[in-house]
Amino acid sequence: MNANVIIARYGEVHLKGNNRGMFMQRLTKNLRDAVGKDCKIELKNGRYIFTEFEQDKWCALLDRIAKVFGLTSVSPCVAVPHDQILRVMEDEQINGAFRVNVNRADKKFPHTSMEFAAICGATILKKCKNAKVDLYDPDDIIFVDIREDNIAYVYGEVNPAVGGLPVGTAGRALVLLSGGIDSPVAAWLASKRGLAVDFIHFSSPPYTSDMAMDKVRRLAGALEPYCGKSRLFTVPVTQILQQINALCVDEYTITILRRFMVRIAREIAEQNGHDCIVTGENLAQVASQTIQGITTNNVLAGATPILRPLITYDKSEIIALAQKIGTYGISVEPHQDCCTVFVPSSPVISPTIAKCEKQEQKLEINALVKKAIQDME
Ligand code: ATP
Ligand code: MG
Repeated sequence: MNANVIIARYGEVHLKGNNRGMFMQRLTKNLRDAVGKDCKIELKNGRYIFTEFEQDKWCALLDRIAKVFGLTSVSPCVAVPHDQILRVMEDEQINGAFRVNVNRADKKFPHTSMEFAAICGATILKKCKNAKVDLYDPDDIIFVDIREDNIAYVYGEVNPAVGGLPVGTAGRALVLLSGGIDSPVAAWLASKRGLAVDFIHFSSPPYTSDMAMDKVRRLAGALEPYCGKSRLFTVPVTQILQQINALCVDEYTITILRRFMVRIAREIAEQNGHDCIVTGENLAQVASQTIQGITTNNVLAGATPILRPLITYDKSEIIALAQKIGTYGISVEPHQDCCTVFVPSSPVISPTIAKCEKQEQKLEINALVKKAIQDME
């Protein structure tokens, strides 16, 4: 089939009562950004209709549309004048059980839905020798949507889209993006619930390479079809790492580095109007991600909430999502992260705020944070 129209349906936006207009406006804008000048978009009869695209590009276009948060399903369609519907039925290639569902929105159409479904079914049966009608348990359903203005949409697929809410309707997040598997998935989940995202990455040159930086850029790029355009802030933390490593007890180094990440992220978030910080942390995944470890971070975030979308996920669930959204292959490329530069032999599992503060007395915290932000790109 060569589709000349794509239909996209939206979901939870329906529930938004008085805010519905705002949600719809944002969804429309995000769809326009996603398709650019490659097709025309109309919002008609409670769904989006995409037309005027190059015929051989429909598959790629469908893929882009299905990644826009807020949509529940997409269908490639053949749109024809009413008198051409049966010609489309003649082209169907069906093996096995099928039924035809007719929706007659144009009440001037000369047949009832039931009558016309039977006519369509008979047309298909004449051409497809191995097809049989089964109204109750069909393998294929052919949908025929008869609209006003002499147009009918014929389609056989209702493919799931990503769901969620339109990006930008829930505010803007600053996502701590490492080069690992978890944080890109956390960004994706945050966007799925309507957060626009920017990224902050902590690098430690020369211990971490340009290749590592390039990997982070590509991860941000891989998320763009879902999350939209974003900014990537890169903050060098080499000096911070060196001071921590030289002056603090070994078991607290990672915890204290993470506290610096929060201080810096909070500052950037406040300067740039981000409503929250997002991390890929996951309860008990590593020593620093215990409740006590998380608590030592939370106290530094002030009024900026830290969201951790993956907190209760199993690693296998995170990997499955990373594969689905297309970040996994990039994440598993081997490059050093600043957290892995000076790994303590046994990081503390139950850190306390008091002990963190005691270690941090040896460091010039404000100066280090200020310098790191000055060197930000
Ligand atoms: P994985 O666990 O798959 O190796 P990760 O990204 O979760 O990758 P962790 O060491 O578990 O890495 O770090 C927990 C979280 O801290 C990350 O999800 C990320 O949000 C943040 N983080 C860690 N290192 C960095 C970094 N270099 N820059 C920005 N954020 C980081
Ligand atoms: Mg992790």
